[in-house]
Amino acid sequence: MCSIGDEGIEDEGPAKFMEKKLSLQDKTCVKCKTNRSVILLRSKDCYCKECFVNGTLHKFKAFLGKLRLSRRDEKVLVSYKTGHVTCTLLQFLRNGLDTMAEQKRLKFQPIFIYVEKNYHLSLEERKNVLKTISEHVNHFNFKLYMVSFGDYIKTGQLTLFESWNTIKLSEDNNDIYEILKEKTKLTYQKEIFHIFERDLLIKSAKSLDCSFIFTTDLTADIAVNLLTNVSLGRGNQLPLDIGVIDDRDEIKIIKPMRHLNMKECVFYNYFNNVEPVITRVIDEKPYSSVQNLLTNFIDKLQVDYPATVTTVLRTGDKLSMDLANQSICEFCKAPIFMNKDKFISSEATNFSRHLSTMQLNMDVTPTERYEKAVSSYSSSDDKKDLCYSCKIISEFIIK
Ligand SMILES: [Zn+2]
Ligand SMILES: [Zn+2]
Repeated sequence: MCSIGDEGIEDEGPAKFMEKKLSLQDKTCVKCKTNRSVILLRSKDCYCKECFVNGTLHKFKAFLGKLRLSRRDEKVLVSYKTGHVTCTLLQFLRNGLDTMAEQKRLKFQPIFIYVEKNYHLSLEERKNVLKTISEHVNHFNFKLYMVSFGDYIKTGQLTLFESWNTIKLSEDNNDIYEILKEKTKLTYQKEIFHIFERDLLIKSAKSLDCSFIFTTDLTADIAVNLLTNVSLGRGNQLPLDIGVIDDRDEIKIIKPMRHLNMKECVFYNYFNNVEPVITRVIDEKPYSSVQNLLTNFIDKLQVDYPATVTTVLRTGDKLSMDLANQSICEFCKAPIFMNKDKFISSEATNFSRHLSTMQLNMDVTPTERYEKAVSSYSSSDDKKDLCYSCKIISEFIIK
């Protein structure tokens, strides 16, 4: 008889099940040790409403405090995404700017930007989304710009709109998605759009005179990013994509929500009675792309082993890289690592492919043959300006 499934239950004994059945009402808050708990975090810590709300806000402020971004009136571009995370971030920023205590007050000036790419919705729905987002940001008294992603990819020109009803929405921009869908797999599409969006945010920040960009990535998003990068051959770029600051450009990208998870954002919004802007999302299968697969994997891991996801994030925090004296990839702007003495693994594969197509001259010494092969290999590489991963997707990039 198979007993694998039963073993764990017997080992843990009935105590574990009894504990799970206990209601939060029976537990006092682990922080203040007086109030009744209303939320359970990390499967073990119970908090009352007040301690949870204060603790979550404190986590955000403490992270920014450590970064010391406090030059007065410095502008920060914040990428608006529909859903709970931006809704929490709006409250955090408004609270941080309005705090009475001078020393604890955030000194920078946030400006929001929404990149419109809701091609799966009707024109009417897209307009409604823009209107609602506009009202949401206005409610918190922040400035909002809007930009059409399709327009940017098509023309390479950046046009920022200050009002939701002046932005030109066109179904034509859907073409760009259709062309890419025909030409490439979903994994590469997502990769290409991710790089284009990063580029769009950097250009917008420059044109709006912002020195930093805030994105809304949570702990789980960063863990997904880490595993995706490794899977797509971007392992050596990890410190940029998942580290505390992405400084590959003069505009630095920061993920101020990196120590929070979705449950914290949802409950923070709920306890503060603030509704997020929700849109219909594209229904994608978990196995349709590397990114979806890893999102699914991390989501499940987060439920069963929340500490593991945090460990992935902390590992990322410890990675660093030397950006000096490296050539830069034309597309993703990450450094291209060269080792002058020996090939890195991707180069070794390409070199052996090159060798197999070469006519070798057997009249010269083996050393001379090798040197000739190396020099003809380096002059045959017409994608020298791209990193390993961008070389793979380069044939799909629409210039
Ligand atoms: Zn409490
Ligand atoms: Zn690249």
